[in-house]
Amino acid sequence: MEEARERLQRAERVAVLTGAGVSAESGIPTFRGSGGLWEGFRPEELATPEAYARDPEKVWRWYAMRYAQVMQAKPNEAHRLLVELERAKERGFLLVTQNVDGLHARAGNRRLVELHGNITRARCERCGHRQPLPPPDDFTPPPICERCGGRMRPDVVWFGEFLDADHLAQAERAFMTADVALVVGTSAVVEPAASLGRIAKSAGAYLIEVNPEPTPLTPLADLSLRTSASEGLRAVWRQDG
Ligand code: NAD
Ligand code: ZN
Repeated sequence: MEEARERLQRAERVAVLTGAGVSAESGIPTFRGSGGLWEGFRPEELATPEAYARDPEKVWRWYAMRYAQVMQAKPNEAHRLLVELERAKERGFLLVTQNVDGLHARAGNRRLVELHGNITRARCERCGHRQPLPPPDDFTPPPICERCGGRMRPDVVWFGEFLDADHLAQAERAFMTADVALVVGTSAVVEPAASLGRIAKSAGAYLIEVNPEPTPLTPLADLSLRTSASEGLRAVWRQDG
């Protein structure tokens, strides 16, 4: 633990990957945890282009429900500690998240890549224009594009779709050149989450994992903390914690 703290203190370049576990303490459920079903469907059956083509209304209802939930939630201590870490490392910092809840941005992180998009926005199916969703109380899906009148879809990356190539390249660069890589609250089974930690480790980074459960990354980690995101981050980053 001492070594991890010192490494993180001294590091000039820090790359962080987060997953749904970071938002669990804000009351937003993970996909694999309890409460993972919605109207009897698994997320993997709803977050796909096929599901949307078959029944766009159903998929939008699910996103509208999650959007309302996210807007009720607040960033937690883990989000706040990652903002402090960014302020300390400035240009040497990048936060890559798989979360689509926008809580890292709301907490104040700016050097941020939202790999899977953001459910608080929609994207036009016809012209690609993006716009924020109206407040949850005024929102009846689907949103209509303010630019071309086309139907809009959630601005997220679905299972089976490609990630934005620039985002991916930026994430890989950060993990390849990091002195310390932190992987927090992700099951690390979906690509590229599975490989970012590995990339950092094989390029010589010190790898810290925070997750209450072991993951495929655990055997590779220099330090693996079996605890919540906020406690784990407090342990390695807040000296007075
Ligand atoms: P996941 O549901 O597969 O895994 C969540 C991980 O968090 C698990 O390994 C679990 O052990 C861990 N965890 C649970 N509680 C925790 C806590 N308090 N602190 C730290 N870790 C905790 O989620 P994933 O790996 O992020 O990937 C699944 C996909 O689901 C992603 O593509 C993501 O876009 C999507 N998703 C996003 C949100 C969100 O935006 N908040 C929520 C659910 C799912
Ligand atoms: Zn449009």
